[in-house]
Amino acid sequence: MKGAHHALCGAAAWVAVASTAPYTLGWYPVSPLGVVTGALVCAGAALAPDADHHDATIAHSLPPVSEWVCDVVGHLAGGHRNGTHSVLGVAVLVGIAWAAGQVTVATETLGELAAGAGLLSLLLVAFAARALGLARRRLDAWALALGLAGFITVAAPTEWDWLPVAVGLGAAVHIAGDMLTDGGVPLLWPWEPRPPRWWRATPLLNDLWSRGGNFAVPILGRTGSWRERILVSPLAVYAAYGVGAAVVVGSLTALGYDADAVMARAWEAAGVLVGTATVVGATVLTVPLLT
Ligand SMILES: [Zn+2]
Repeated sequence: MKGAHHALCGAAAWVAVASTAPYTLGWYPVSPLGVVTGALVCAGAALAPDADHHDATIAHSLPPVSEWVCDVVGHLAGGHRNGTHSVLGVAVLVGIAWAAGQVTVATETLGELAAGAGLLSLLLVAFAARALGLARRRLDAWALALGLAGFITVAAPTEWDWLPVAVGLGAAVHIAGDMLTDGGVPLLWPWEPRPPRWWRATPLLNDLWSRGGNFAVPILGRTGSWRERILVSPLAVYAAYGVGAAVVVGSLTALGYDADAVMARAWEAAGVLVGTATVVGATVLTVPLLT
């Protein structure tokens, strides 16, 4: 899967899991600020497994920092689509996010600052901003990331509790995305079990568990295929919807309104509007047929 597509899947997955707006799962509810920031952090984490090779979106996103990161990661993970594309890779990333959350700095004026979580999120948000096209210039990506990560670190440091969850979800979504393409992923790395000879000789089975020990459900075909683009496009709308809803709820709460009540009434009004439009549309279409 292409880098920007991975990032979109990550943002949409976070909205589905962490938002409580209609059409979301709400399995791990966080504040509106957590939905907005987490969507970008999760999008950045969804790029992270590809930090194992030079040509990835993440390597080009913020040179030279991103190039250094990719060199080191590629070396440690045994090359492209190896260690970072496995269950162990996800666990390591979650561990890094958890460890980053433990690094705090006590200041006299601002109290305890979640410096580690802020720094990790700064990187992930900057990578995501570039990949998603939210910031055209490198400097804008850094500025956006610095503003968002800096604001939370200083103003709402306990917000970062969700960081390991967002990082783990993003990495898992990346691996799932690559599993849907032809190459597949070595889920159990460094253990790479090879299928028996009869399995490899059966065309469909050979796609699911390949000679190299990779696992795949290759319904999208090759990376960047039209099927991949068709799958990902609606996710952009979904992610934008979730982030937009969080911004509205957060703004209403900040202004002193009961956001839940206002949103419930807004949805009711939207329902009435859609219902009315359907009735009017049906009438306009059927009346000429009857007369
Ligand atoms: Zn990948």
